[in-house]
Amino acid sequence: MNKRTPLVAGNWKMNGDPSLVEGMAAALAGYDGAAQMVICPPFPFLAQARELFAGHVAIGAQNLSDQEEGAYTGEVSASMLAGAGCGYVIIGHSERRALYGETDALIAAKFARAQTEGLVPILCVGETLEEREAGKTEAVVCGQLQAVIDAAGIEAFARAVVAYEPVWAIGTGMTASPEQAQEVHATLRQTVASYSADIAASLPLLYGGSVKADNAALLFAQSDIDGGLIGGASLTADSFLAICRAA
Ligand code: PGA
Repeated sequence: MNKRTPLVAGNWKMNGDPSLVEGMAAALAGYDGAAQMVICPPFPFLAQARELFAGHVAIGAQNLSDQEEGAYTGEVSASMLAGAGCGYVIIGHSERRALYGETDALIAAKFARAQTEGLVPILCVGETLEEREAGKTEAVVCGQLQAVIDAAGIEAFARAVVAYEPVWAIGTGMTASPEQAQEVHATLRQTVASYSADIAASLPLLYGGSVKADNAALLFAQSDIDGGLIGGASLTADSFLAICRAA
């Protein structure tokens, strides 16, 4: 199987401060492993992160506007993020879907907008516990992926990352088992492969949801898991570094 470059992205959510950027930059500077590291801090720390992470850690944003520019108070555009040095942007995180009412249509529009500025979208998909228990996991995650394929086209996935994040595993300490995660990852990859085997083979598929230093290696050992999207454990340099080393 075509093994993809591992990617580990830290999603700081609404946490952190300038001293965390400094500490993380110092701690990650010595990393010489194979994984591409990405840190997604809150917007105000992007400039500092760009300066301190230069060369060894890519930076990403946690959100962007679907609009190009103009009278959209409080929004941040794709071109602003690209200009601030972002290479990646998280799109469709379950917190944005659930707390801010982001729909598949809006997420697809954000995905397309990110790519027009050369940002690599990290598209998040995932089912709730209720959906899993009702046997709807595959339908939910493939539906979320399909909505973006329909809007953006399969070719867009040659320049994208997909993260499977079961909602019940985010911030709860309940990680999907490596087998559960692998099963969903394989299904997602098959969905893409039904359009293009090449794009499916090169698409990085990350797992997210309570990834920690002690469970990362088993998750990352699965054939369709190419790295992780890390929330809580990305806020401590030691744990983030240990997770990167497991990739
Ligand atoms: P967690 O968050 O690692 O704290 O569970 C993952 C995420 O929400 O991206």
